[in-house]
Amino acid sequence: MAIFETEALVLRTYNLAEADKIVVCLSRSAGLIRGVAKGCRKLRNRFGASLEPFTLINLTYYEKENKELVSFSQTEILRSRFNLSGNASILTGFSYMGDLLIDFSPPHQANDNLYRMALACFEAASESPPDLESVLRYFEVWLLKIEGFLPDLRACANCHRVFSEETIYLGNDLSLRCAECSGSRGTAVSKRLHAQLRATEKLPPAKFAEEAREVASETKKQMAELTFQMIGRVLERMPRIRPNV
Ligand SMILES: [Zn+2]
Repeated sequence: MAIFETEALVLRTYNLAEADKIVVCLSRSAGLIRGVAKGCRKLRNRFGASLEPFTLINLTYYEKENKELVSFSQTEILRSRFNLSGNASILTGFSYMGDLLIDFSPPHQANDNLYRMALACFEAASESPPDLESVLRYFEVWLLKIEGFLPDLRACANCHRVFSEETIYLGNDLSLRCAECSGSRGTAVSKRLHAQLRATEKLPPAKFAEEAREVASETKKQMAELTFQMIGRVLERMPRIRPNV
């Protein structure tokens, strides 16, 4: 039996037997982990409130050979989201991000870029709840990018010409093409929407969300439709939760 310690973000929990829970979390050093927290539903237990979803913890766990579930041994709260527990839209948004992280992350595979991006997005929305929607868009674009599904936003996938001020088109194969190469078929990506997509590549989530306050609601709506469509295509189904669209 091996023992490990890592920082981790609690994403989802399920009740197990009478007093236990299965906890799914994204960890810094081991990626997606599913573990059993024994006795955590008893009144006085060693885990306290640390296993509430979206809490950032320091986690110690045991791994048994040939077992998919690890055993949680100790937790310590690094950042609680207790202050947001009454904010329904934040909780829906967080559940949505949690679901996508679970859907997109292979178990036990550390991905530092994904971990840091996710943490920054949870943090940005916690710090400024009214910016949730823009943070979710940022999260979706970066999740697609880190997992290798985001098309090249810079140039046409066919003729490699760098996009300038023009409407471009997203094809069924998740590639972006200029009007000429695509024959204007596919989902139109307006110049403003394209600028928003490019902005995610240049800015951290809090800054992106701050600047997005000035962006027209029509463009934001188009962005939500586009990212939702891309994620649906990658998952080959619609996400379980669809917040604020
Ligand atoms: Zn082209």
